[in-house]
Amino acid sequence: MLDLLATKKILNDFNILPRQSLGQNFLISEAIVQKIIKISNVSKQSHVLEIGPGLGALTSVLLEFAAKVSAYEIDKKMIAVLEQRLSNKMNFVLYHQNILDVDLRALYSEQSNFQVIANLPYYISAEIIEKILTEIPNALNMTLMLQKEAVERISLEPNNSRYGPTAIMIQLYGRITDKIKVASSCFYPQPGVSSQIIKITRDPESVLFLNQGNTDLFKFKQFLKQCFAQRRKTIRNNFKKCLRPKLSVQDLEKIEQLNIVDFELRPEQITAKKFWQLYQSVANYNNQA
Ligand code: SAM
Repeated sequence: MLDLLATKKILNDFNILPRQSLGQNFLISEAIVQKIIKISNVSKQSHVLEIGPGLGALTSVLLEFAAKVSAYEIDKKMIAVLEQRLSNKMNFVLYHQNILDVDLRALYSEQSNFQVIANLPYYISAEIIEKILTEIPNALNMTLMLQKEAVERISLEPNNSRYGPTAIMIQLYGRITDKIKVASSCFYPQPGVSSQIIKITRDPESVLFLNQGNTDLFKFKQFLKQCFAQRRKTIRNNFKKCLRPKLSVQDLEKIEQLNIVDFELRPEQITAKKFWQLYQSVANYNNQA
């Protein structure tokens, strides 16, 4: 485990200044790393996807508990550190890549006993979560360090002005089963925002998982974004603006007659389940076109 002194020594030895633009706040608390290990239930059967291994504070411990760790790091200075510290570990595969550019579906959608464990770069945490849910909802669970405000946003139910696509996708994947507050003093450098660890566990009846093979989940995500493009407007108006020319007025009328949702509602008033049903009927019309 890397404590404050060891972290500073590595940064100094490798001539690295932590980059705020890449969300580089390194974990320096053994207790927090152990909490992540405990709530994730990582085991010798687990294949772990780690995003942003940094200097390897979490990675080195994950490697002791998991069958395999595949890690994606964007910063070549971190890669140099990780190669020196962990290249002798046979169960470690390190990629020097921007996680947002990785085709996760092609690489991991068939994996079982697959878990995501990461202290995420906060500046793209929602994008990363949406990418995981769209491409690899087969993941059993995700244990993530996030900014406290991001946790609040993705935990929201309908009828809240900040409810949106990420919260909806999480509800169609599973449930948030753990939330742990983390003090800023557990990181170096200390972030200017509060942090929390959350675990999101896939439901046995997870809509995203069960439909992984037969619905284009990427299109579903786009659909949600379109529905929320103007969150103050009704679903009818969002549809009119966004879905043309794919859906004709007649198609819209037919979908409305299915009575899945009241088209006069605003997107933030619609449950995750209803959004899924609505998407199925819209996709149906698009396929026929
Ligand atoms: N896991 C380490 C730890 O807990 O100490 C570092 C976590 S730090 C909050 C986030 C890490 O994500 C940094 O190492 C940063 O370079 C990396 N990162 C930032 N953007 C990334 C991206 N788009 N793809 C992959 N890694 C990224």
